[in-house]
Amino acid sequence: MLSYNKISPIIYYCKAIEFVDIIYEKILKEREIMIDNFELKQLVEPLQNWFKGNARVLPWRENPLGYYVWISEIMLQQTRVEAVKPYFERFIKELPDVKSLAECPEDKLLKLWEGLGYYNRVRNLKVAANQIMEEYKGEIPSDYEELLKLKGIGNYTAGAIASIAYGKAVPAVDGNVLRVISRVTADDSDIMKQSVRAHMEQRLLDVMCDENTKVIPSVFNQALMELGAMVCVPNGTPHCEVCPWGEICEARKQNRIAELPVKKKAKARRVEEKTVLIIKDGEKLALHKRAKSGLLAGLYELPNTEGYLTEDEIIEYVKKKGYAPIRIQSVGEAKHIFSHVEWHMKGYVVFLQAEEFEDAGKKDNWLFVDVEETKEKYAIPSAFVKYTEYLNLVIGKEAIELSSERSSM
Ligand code: SF4
Repeated sequence: MLSYNKISPIIYYCKAIEFVDIIYEKILKEREIMIDNFELKQLVEPLQNWFKGNARVLPWRENPLGYYVWISEIMLQQTRVEAVKPYFERFIKELPDVKSLAECPEDKLLKLWEGLGYYNRVRNLKVAANQIMEEYKGEIPSDYEELLKLKGIGNYTAGAIASIAYGKAVPAVDGNVLRVISRVTADDSDIMKQSVRAHMEQRLLDVMCDENTKVIPSVFNQALMELGAMVCVPNGTPHCEVCPWGEICEARKQNRIAELPVKKKAKARRVEEKTVLIIKDGEKLALHKRAKSGLLAGLYELPNTEGYLTEDEIIEYVKKKGYAPIRIQSVGEAKHIFSHVEWHMKGYVVFLQAEEFEDAGKKDNWLFVDVEETKEKYAIPSAFVKYTEYLNLVIGKEAIELSSERSSM
């Protein structure tokens, strides 16, 4: 027979297990309360009414053609509305329809996108424009499933085009929507997971297809995005006092706004050190065309090397390329952050003997161009903005602002 002293640790162990089970069950139960136990239908009316009185006037909203919704949504991925406006207006002026986009030369397309980043997206736009010309007689399809067949169009963009341009009852779940729905329902699922996004899409689809909810698809989807951008903001304190869901929001009731949405930490970015070279003489500048695939594919950059070179090593490097440097000058450090990698750069101006340019060859894909010519023809990624400033070479968003200032004079 076991003595009391011997049995007690076992009892304690069992009690502990029981306790853990109870806690676990409680957690599971609470998880159930979240999005699945929340009556999403109650969100519709206050949200749509709020949007009617608070929607911002945006260039792509005035006349929500499929083409305009498509271009604006691709531009808006990763970039703020205010930054996108001048890009959108210039793009539509230059390429007013699917046909002109399909026929646009790549260098011009990249120049129109210069500074927006994620250059594959604009290449995909052109591929999709060609698909539309060939397979859909130049008309952007209105059907969600057909839209998904176009290059570069995923669930979110297909949902946005189908609902906003064509009034189809399909959700458009982006980061804003994930955040506001997670908060209003106090759902603490990890919004980085594809399964969580898919589940939210399904729940919103159910609401949108429910005849009793009086959802207006274009209004409902845009209102969710707008609420996320203007009220239930990603950084800083959300403006709950003006939120149409202020009285029904679970995160607010439970005082858990700061901890929602739950977002698993992304992997740390890889750091790459680089030496950037402004190789010039007078008006001529060396540019290098990047490879056809990979990061910043096909764009023009200032020549650069992996790692930090000393001034002596730079001179050696330039000599090995077949040029004769006569002077070198440091122009400081810069940093650029991509989604998975960070560039930490040290820049130098290298002055060559003037006659070097007589032989404006294409060694190592370097081409020597006039700085003025660069403004018009060559798309340079904004990673180099600190060094292009040195050349008084304005690129990206600043270039658009400058040209619109000039044209309004
Ligand atoms: S009440 Fe506050 S936390 Fe809740 S959805 Fe509105 S802004 Fe977001």
